[in-house]
Amino acid sequence: MKLYSTNSPDQYVSLKKAVLKGLPEDNGLFMPNELPKLPSSFIQHLKDYSFQEIAFQVSKTLLQGAIPENDLEEIINNAINFPAPIATLDEQIHVLELFHGPSLAFKDFGARFMAQLMSYFNRGEQKELVILVATSGDTGGAVAAGFYKTEGTKVVILYPSGKVSNLQEKQLTTLGHNIAALEVDGTFDDCQALVKKAFLDKELNTQIRLSSANSINIARLIPQSFYYFEAFKQVNDYTNPIVFSVPSGNFGNLTAGLLAKRMGLPIHFIAATNNNSVVPEYLANGVYTPRPSVRTISNAMDVGNPSNFARMLDIFNANGSTWNNMKNEIAGYHFNDEQTKAGVKEVYDQYGYVIDPHGAVAYLAFKEYQNLHPLAKGIILETAHPSKFIDDVEQILNKKVDIPERLASLANKKKEATPIGITFEPFKNWLLDNY
Ligand SMILES: *Cc1c(COP(=O)(O)O)cnc(C)c1O
Repeated sequence: MKLYSTNSPDQYVSLKKAVLKGLPEDNGLFMPNELPKLPSSFIQHLKDYSFQEIAFQVSKTLLQGAIPENDLEEIINNAINFPAPIATLDEQIHVLELFHGPSLAFKDFGARFMAQLMSYFNRGEQKELVILVATSGDTGGAVAAGFYKTEGTKVVILYPSGKVSNLQEKQLTTLGHNIAALEVDGTFDDCQALVKKAFLDKELNTQIRLSSANSINIARLIPQSFYYFEAFKQVNDYTNPIVFSVPSGNFGNLTAGLLAKRMGLPIHFIAATNNNSVVPEYLANGVYTPRPSVRTISNAMDVGNPSNFARMLDIFNANGSTWNNMKNEIAGYHFNDEQTKAGVKEVYDQYGYVIDPHGAVAYLAFKEYQNLHPLAKGIILETAHPSKFIDDVEQILNKKVDIPERLASLANKKKEATPIGITFEPFKNWLLDNY
């Protein structure tokens, strides 16, 4: 397997380089040079495979020998160790629950797989890999859990003091072992600036083998394609059109679905957003206007300039108009907070199912789509457990929402974080002293 940068399509790097570097130097994004088709016998008989077997077949086909099969199998078994079940609301509406991992969000799939790949590619190196992550809350929790006790890796998480929720902070600060948390007396942007400076600092980079767990690392995208197959298998309908409604922010999830489709899965897509609607607007009128994000109750999707849009353009720029190609395969809808709240309530009142605000946006989008495509079967991606947004959900439904034990138990654990300021030198010295 080789990868190119969306900005330099004729220069290739290995999977190892793409995973350890994260971002190409030219500021593009890494993409696989080929998306090989899976055998149609495999697509027709998904039912015969377990989730892990599906993940293995898909990654084996995509990676084309970049990792020997027995190593790849071990990586899959370590990374994909929780299920992605479907809840059926009615004949035509299914919910794909992606929250059964340690941090209760779909980002666990990407983080765990990336951790396994980084650890694998760092084998045989003298120095361990030190992964720097700036987080405004959620990503850090998934990355911390994903790398926890992963051989040859250390993780340093920078988060803005007082600006993440109590349980989010506990997810970052209570693991210990190879996970360290720095509580930054500043904003998320300050955290990000510190991480950026660290990567540019010559001395740090000769002393420490630094890497980033950036959300646009190709290693996060690959495993997110697995559960499209797993969901298709569970709905198991090869006659009616199957559409995935994807609640989107940076559009990593939807891009991963496109990889699955290019590899042979016969599916359609809905891009569902909140008021940060630059992609649905592009689909409607062909004009892409990135702008600062606005705050909504589905806040993990508050993105004004989605990072994976460059990958989507790359996928659709084959023949003819990129815009036409994209809107032929993706329908776009967006909803405001009032509509989202009504969606959460409707799913509960009609089906007795508690959905989170992100899933509710995807549900509303599928309902719109259904008006035009009455035969379609919808699979709504439920990207987080509703208890992660407990205040809003309890208020909307006027009832208590259960918190899964793995999240609730964090409340009693002791926070361990090192407070730091926003100037670079103390951060740099901390890194040099500790690694
Ligand atoms: C990150 C996130 C999203 C957005 O996913 P993208 O891949 O960035 O589009 C949606 N829902 C939840 C709960 C998330 O955490």
